[in-house]
Amino acid sequence: MARINCAHNMTLLFTILFAWLALVAGLLIAFRDRLLALWHEPAFKAPILTIESDDWGAGPLTQAEALSKLAACLNRHHDVTGRPACMTLALILAIPKPEMAGKVTLADAELFSVLNSIHAGQAQGVFALQLHGMMHFWPEVLWEAVSMQTEVRTWLIKPELTEQLPSHLQSRWTNAANLPSKPHSLEDVQAAVAEEVGLFKALFVGVGAPLSEIYSDAACSLFAHEGSPTNLVVVPPTFVWDSRVEAAWANQGVSVVITPGRRLTCRDADGKPGCQDKTMLNGDRGAGDLIYLVRDDYFEPVFGHRPEQALAALARKTALGRPCLLETHRSNFLTEAGGDPTAALAALDDLYTRALRDFPNLRFATPAELGHAIRTGDANWIEQDPRCRFTIWLQRIASLPRFGKVARLTGLLPLLNLFARSDLRP
Ligand SMILES: [Zn+2]
Repeated sequence: MARINCAHNMTLLFTILFAWLALVAGLLIAFRDRLLALWHEPAFKAPILTIESDDWGAGPLTQAEALSKLAACLNRHHDVTGRPACMTLALILAIPKPEMAGKVTLADAELFSVLNSIHAGQAQGVFALQLHGMMHFWPEVLWEAVSMQTEVRTWLIKPELTEQLPSHLQSRWTNAANLPSKPHSLEDVQAAVAEEVGLFKALFVGVGAPLSEIYSDAACSLFAHEGSPTNLVVVPPTFVWDSRVEAAWANQGVSVVITPGRRLTCRDADGKPGCQDKTMLNGDRGAGDLIYLVRDDYFEPVFGHRPEQALAALARKTALGRPCLLETHRSNFLTEAGGDPTAALAALDDLYTRALRDFPNLRFATPAELGHAIRTGDANWIEQDPRCRFTIWLQRIASLPRFGKVARLTGLLPLLNLFARSDLRP
């Protein structure tokens, strides 16, 4: 009798075990692409904080003073290696002249004070310059909209703050004169990219002292590459672009594209960014072997974002082996764009102070440097130890929507966690 019971129990046990294995195998197979992608995504060793500030450049002259104050704030904070805080500026190179008669670029004398402030911060190593676009829109699209929209006509009387244009018209790399938008011709894209990358290089590449001369860190091999044409970084306006634009960027020497983790290629019938054709993780490659970086956290004091939220994002990204790229805009630091510069600078100061206190091994790095570290697999920055990578991967898969919950309920994650590095466990 006891033997029959025992056999019965064993059968039951094997049935449960088999059912569990089948469930786990099904789960792993269903999510295999995502799990593999998360394994291949490079894992950064240290917490990295990069504040990404968009829309600077051609525009109001008050930017000159705002940028000087920003540079002073950044210079007050240094990471564990002694490097000053570094903010990226995504630059607009030109604005139209009133009434559409040509354009004023950062190379023109009337914008000299703004260019000068940008160069000063670049030379101090506190500004990392990225290309946002010749203009924050496609000029011909805007001219077409002028005839249809009074607000665009009004804007053109003093065309300094592109933030004030209707959102869909701020997308440069799609023709949103009529909605849904249509692609530009390939020839137009290639010509526009060549023109804007050429001007960006002329204004900013090789200008000022390379970071390696003003800051030396023997353990870090990245800085010698700062400013090199092979490390140009682009931030697509409104994050709408397509593969043809990417290929044109790569052709002109751009090597890193900042993304929100997905590529949206059009403006839909409601004017919203749409036509998603791709998702990406840090280090994924685009056309011409461009490297994508993901920026999906925000620090916009003008919208009420507090340093606590930014610090929580930094903690989250660090646990996942990812750099924390925080998006912000010049509008926070310009009164005429609706910002409160004093409050924004105080919030920024507070954020850096607390980040350096809460993360003693915090590093400041630019997307150009991160892209280079990924491309070369630099062991100073990228985790090589398999057990560390496994532990970070476990945290990444635990945060996958749906998968994480089921993997926890089935006991798969707790089981895998037994093999993780205990000091890195969440
Ligand atoms: Zn922008």
